[in-house]
Amino acid sequence: MSKLVCYFTKAYSTGSASSPLSAATIERRTPTATDVQIQILYCGVCHSDLHFARNEWAFTQYPAVPGHEIVGRVTAVGSGVKKFKVGETVGVGCLVDSCRTCPDCRSGLEQFCAGMVMTYGSMDEHLNAPTLGGYAQSIVVTEDFVLRIPANLNLASAAPLLCAGITTYSPMRHWKVGPGQKVGIVGLGGLGHMGVKFARAFGAHVVLFTTSPNKVADAKRLGAHEVVVSTDADQMAAQAGSFDFILDAVSATHDINAYLNLLKHDGNLVLVGAPEKPLPVAAFPLLFRRRSLSGSLIGGLPETQEMLDFCGTHNITSDVEMIRMDQINDAYERMLKSDVKYRFVIDMATLT
Ligand code: NAP
Ligand code: ZN
Ligand code: ZN
Repeated sequence: MSKLVCYFTKAYSTGSASSPLSAATIERRTPTATDVQIQILYCGVCHSDLHFARNEWAFTQYPAVPGHEIVGRVTAVGSGVKKFKVGETVGVGCLVDSCRTCPDCRSGLEQFCAGMVMTYGSMDEHLNAPTLGGYAQSIVVTEDFVLRIPANLNLASAAPLLCAGITTYSPMRHWKVGPGQKVGIVGLGGLGHMGVKFARAFGAHVVLFTTSPNKVADAKRLGAHEVVVSTDADQMAAQAGSFDFILDAVSATHDINAYLNLLKHDGNLVLVGAPEKPLPVAAFPLLFRRRSLSGSLIGGLPETQEMLDFCGTHNITSDVEMIRMDQINDAYERMLKSDVKYRFVIDMATLT
């Protein structure tokens, strides 16, 4: 495909796995007939941004611009755009396109499409270059991958819904988390704190597992009925064999067998965390009690809109800590120390 007309926008990018992020100028395509151009107001900081910036998943191409929890204002629309108008506030999550024709796309599961285009780190057919994410002043996205943000939600606090929100909402909907179930959430970070909020909103009995004793009070305020400090063997033993469903949102190496042992018979542990290194799985915790280990990846476009609308109705947003763009490298270091309450969000007005 020939290269389209482009414009330049300011961004924060990194040139290698070991370089800090720094100011840069990047190209975006000028909107085509079906495109929406968005001035980015806020962008959440997902741990995936850090894994990607540092090439921990071994597919990063540089220069790389992370960021896939984007909210902003529409500044231009192509002549064929029907769903959005200039001035509206909108969101963009982890996907910016897909093949549109495969069975997964036709059933609204674009995240499983072999041709899905991620907001960063995929091939951008328009520019013949890797896609660049939301640590930037603007982005251009085809209208079918732009989402509506309910008007009652605070925009900065809504940004993390675009990844942390849908990634925790989708598996709990798929496996029908609800009243009468005991649900565990492992790790009180960006994903975990949204998991606590959704599990509580769906009517489950919610138990949060944390390695950080200083998060116990917050976890209860966020909706957990019980909090277990996972480094305390007695507290863990007291929960053995009692869970219907556990959502594991841990970003680093940890012992998942300890959590498999907490499931009832036929219980399910869903991994959404994506640590750099493989996690060893022992056979016996799965064999005994016929337990399942599964995984889940973000969510499709229809379900992401459903999740945003659910958040509008139930007034659910993320607890955020606002940062300036030039604080991003410190924010990464704090995220690695599990020191974020509970999602950093970049105020993009500070990218000047
Ligand atoms: P985060 O905000 O950094 O939270 C991770 C939490 O994990 C920490 O706050 C900490 O919670 C816990 N933790 C960290 N290191 C640990 C260790 N060594 N042992 C045990 N617990 C530890 O990260 P996030 O943005 O929520 O992302 C979490 C993971 O999900 C990342 O790997 C990310 O790439 C992945 N992710 C996956 C999807 C998907 O579609 N599946 C989407 C988005 C993100 P405590 O202090 O409470 O222990
Ligand atoms: Zn993410
Ligand atoms: Zn497809």
